[in-house]
Amino acid sequence: MKKKTKMKKIIRIILPICIAILFGLALFGTFKFITREKEKTFLEKLEPDIYANITNYVIYGIHMNIEGNFTLPENVGNPKLVLSNGKTEIEIPWELEQEENSYTFDTSKYINEGLNLEKLPEEDLYLVIKAESENEKNETIYKYYSVENKSSYDKMEYYTLTKNNKNDKIEMEWNTYEECPTWRFRIKETKLPENVYDITIDPGHDGTDPGKVVCMTSNSIYDPQDEYGNYYGCNKGGEEIEERQLNLNVSMALKEKLESLGYKVTMTRTDNEKRVEIYEPMGSATMANDTKSKFNLAIHHNSSGISGGDATLKGIELYVANDTNFDFAKILINELEESAGITTSPKTKYIVDDGIYQRFFTQEEIDQDDYKQYKNTNMIWYYYIREVGGVSTHAIYNGYDQENYPHPNDHYHSNNTAEPYLFELGYMDNLAELKNILNNKEGYANGIVNGLQKYLEQE
Ligand SMILES: [Zn+2]
Repeated sequence: MKKKTKMKKIIRIILPICIAILFGLALFGTFKFITREKEKTFLEKLEPDIYANITNYVIYGIHMNIEGNFTLPENVGNPKLVLSNGKTEIEIPWELEQEENSYTFDTSKYINEGLNLEKLPEEDLYLVIKAESENEKNETIYKYYSVENKSSYDKMEYYTLTKNNKNDKIEMEWNTYEECPTWRFRIKETKLPENVYDITIDPGHDGTDPGKVVCMTSNSIYDPQDEYGNYYGCNKGGEEIEERQLNLNVSMALKEKLESLGYKVTMTRTDNEKRVEIYEPMGSATMANDTKSKFNLAIHHNSSGISGGDATLKGIELYVANDTNFDFAKILINELEESAGITTSPKTKYIVDDGIYQRFFTQEEIDQDDYKQYKNTNMIWYYYIREVGGVSTHAIYNGYDQENYPHPNDHYHSNNTAEPYLFELGYMDNLAELKNILNNKEGYANGIVNGLQKYLEQE
């Protein structure tokens, strides 16, 4: 009697669970089937024989830019660039030029604008042109045109920034369906591979190069060397302060704060002894791309270049890449001013906006240079920016300077790179500013972190 009740009890509990599991599996299978059928239905909707040409596509930071051209049939117009699977549809803003029924497009004239890869749903989407036509009853109907790869690139992958302990992987793949070419964006949740990071920090200078060095007493500041480079040390008293240490201080604080927000962060160095190569793997111009980071933040401190004394120059200078909008740069500047209690630099050379600088090679520099055949005036002078951005920033280092840098930049021709920024956080030879830098590394780090968070929220 007792045994039977027990059996009954077990059946009463187990049976519903089994049924629930079976039901769940069936539901999941049906869901999968429907999804696949829907995708197929969508692919069947694509117009045969007419495809748009994709002539170029580039990922820079968190954005992707796409260029192409196409011609629509006579009675079709009002085209839009969309990522679609028939159910979900995301329109991508573009700049379109039309000549009768022929179009050329570019998603943005800025390299750091275009399709934001951080906000795509976890689905399979196809990049297509959606256009309008009319049926016999004069009703609007939509036509979908697929795209064909006419660029020199193939498949690509992108990992989104870590958010709530989660990442997505986006695989962009060229396929065909029946004879129609397709460009699929497969977006799936993933765990970041061990060697993939969100952000790279490059604390400027290293074990072989201290950067700017000053001597500081409680009420004065002076150079440990004269204008000819003769080094005397701090022979008039006070403390010797090296830029590499200040860069490291802010970088360490920055890393800690970013990590507390969940980002996976790596650094080109964590001490003052390590020698940091420029172009070799995990170097100052390669690590961000070796680790598939979205941003490369190079941290430096400035000096006036005038030796011997308290400089009048002070304030932050943020160096940015060519062909960029300054959205992120402006937020970083504002947040740094607020958090670190500093102002923007009054320096006018290379300035493009308040606190924002673009240092291109000048004609004069090119004329003096041994490698002038490789350089022109739309190239950024700082390799931390130029070489990190790959094709977007006209990176060039293919190993031509064998004597000084035998290893080429493995990413100089890459169309999938980090977005670099170079901070000159303040003037070390301005006594008031140097005191702020020494006492307020948290403020500087907070400014950069707040800037990043605000920018990502608004994008
Ligand atoms: Zn420096």
